[in-house]
Amino acid sequence: MSLWKNPVEKQASQPRVIMLVDLDYFFAQCEEVRNPSLRNKPVVVCVYSGRSGESGVVSTANYEARKYGVKSGIPITVAKKRLANVDAVFLPVDHDYYDRVSEEVMNILRNHADVFEQAGVDEAYLDVSERVGRSFDKARELAEKIKEEVRRSKGLTCSIGIGPNKLVAKIAADSQKPDGLTVVKPEEVQGFLSPLPVNRLIGVGAKTQSRMESLGIKTIGDLAGFSVQRLVELFGEKLGIYFYNASHGVDNRPVEEKGETASISRISTLREDTRDTEAIMRKAGELCDEIQAELARRRLKAKQIGIIVISKDTSVHSRSKTLAQPTSNPEALKKDVRELFERFLRESGLEARRVGVKVSGFVRGDSQRRLGSFIQGEAE
Ligand SMILES: [Mg+2]
Repeated sequence: MSLWKNPVEKQASQPRVIMLVDLDYFFAQCEEVRNPSLRNKPVVVCVYSGRSGESGVVSTANYEARKYGVKSGIPITVAKKRLANVDAVFLPVDHDYYDRVSEEVMNILRNHADVFEQAGVDEAYLDVSERVGRSFDKARELAEKIKEEVRRSKGLTCSIGIGPNKLVAKIAADSQKPDGLTVVKPEEVQGFLSPLPVNRLIGVGAKTQSRMESLGIKTIGDLAGFSVQRLVELFGEKLGIYFYNASHGVDNRPVEEKGETASISRISTLREDTRDTEAIMRKAGELCDEIQAELARRRLKAKQIGIIVISKDTSVHSRSKTLAQPTSNPEALKKDVRELFERFLRESGLEARRVGVKVSGFVRGDSQRRLGSFIQGEAE
């Protein structure tokens, strides 16, 4: 809540154009991409607790499964009952795979933002104010381009919301799913928010919602009818001011890149399955060049270098090393990557089908300070 520091303030002096890109039913959609024959079936991605065969909860369901009332958070046993007479597919979560897909999508999104902030494995905020000249119409065109690029290169749909701040962009993205695109211009904000149920605002859980209902507040518009003084009396200073601002669509939080998500990786499929170092390095060398370009763009050096090998049986293997000195030099990168692949081939009898390169442990290119402390120092 401390994020809404400025009470009852107007928006930032220059109008901003903020996008929230949210990948649709992400885990289940990743499974559909990996295995397209799942596309028209109910797909349920599950977190098995391991206690017995079917104990655990549903993590994500595709829209086909949602038609049967299967959704995140319900017990797997309940989902199985609801899909009893249907050709449905139940799969365990595969976070390594989703993380890799996520990282590839985030790399695409980052290229389209003035400032980029990953907000979760499947969503990110993009401040695009400058590149669209503060035009919401141009932002819509950019969003269409992004949707097309994510679909073409990764086979995934996403829903995008565009607004003058994060709060409006987020609610806009949620309002049309899947494969949605919703633009809310500054002059449309109040009209867009007012009819929505009040629990669409972050911070209005079941308890607050029933309290608000007893005060006659059902919609965001109802909430906006209260004075800030009254809301502070009812909910305390912090929440009262937040509810006042949020109900009027005011949110001054900046979009900012988070240090802790800092790793860069690239993965690619080899021409054929192989154990030949030279064949692997031809591909891995290209990946190193791409990573080096990204390091240069973000003015970073990396201290950890890793490789990923996905073998024919889709098992995933990795090796990594920590450098004595952080580097962004492409030749040094390739030398270490080659060593890691040689080590993997010595230690494992597997053939590589896909290979990846990953760097992390970033420092600013112009100093030896750790990026994490740099960003923290800046924000405090
Ligand atoms: Mg999502």
